[in-house]
Amino acid sequence: MNLLELNDTDRALYEWQMWVPGMGEDGQLKLKGASVLISRVGGLGGLVALELAAAGIGRLILAHGGELQMSDLNRQLLQTRAQVGRPRVESIIQKLADLNPDCEVIAVPENVSELNADALVAQADIVVDAAPLFQERLALNAAAVRARKPMVECAMHSLEASVTTFIPSRSGCLACYVPEIPTSWTRQFPVFGAVSGTAACLGAVEVIKLITGLGKPLAGEMLCMDLGKMLFRRVKLPQRPDCAVCGAFTGS
Ligand SMILES: [Zn+2]
Repeated sequence: MNLLELNDTDRALYEWQMWVPGMGEDGQLKLKGASVLISRVGGLGGLVALELAAAGIGRLILAHGGELQMSDLNRQLLQTRAQVGRPRVESIIQKLADLNPDCEVIAVPENVSELNADALVAQADIVVDAAPLFQERLALNAAAVRARKPMVECAMHSLEASVTTFIPSRSGCLACYVPEIPTSWTRQFPVFGAVSGTAACLGAVEVIKLITGLGKPLAGEMLCMDLGKMLFRRVKLPQRPDCAVCGAFTGS
């Protein structure tokens, strides 16, 4: 990572964001040297990937299985109408390459599970959880805790969205407040692209802050948003000492 340098193209592309106080060329180099895993690259994770590619992230590992459905297109903005019925990862790779050909994209055409989570997390510095199913979320969470890597957690439902960041030794984990898979959760749920995109952009900001050291991440607190009423509040998320996933790391 330290051997990287910015070139003239980087300086031209990222000139305006390097003006952010505290960012500069050092911050840009950190982005260029960073690897981020995103679990699912749909209406939420797809926008995280797009924002990170635009910001000059060095490497994205993207896990998302299946073929594009017509009903995905109201929110999955890396896709096209012509891609319906074809693997989602194809257009994800193309779209990101069109925006930033210098960003290395490793597209894995499968969703995160207990079988592949450790191997995927091992390839990244930071993990972003944008999956619709709690099975995937909890598998990724457990792998991130085992690897002691930060996980940015983004979620939405209907007109509500939430974002937090779990940082080893500074906060608990997803299993602290979702210890088991909720029985009421369904695979299909109401979603506007503008709502999932809101959560995505905030998640991308968290990733950028973690990598560059800018600002203060949401460790130990969750930003909960009711976009119907435009109410935003921060809720404390204490670590549970008896958490089956991160409890063993309490105090470490
Ligand atoms: Zn925990």
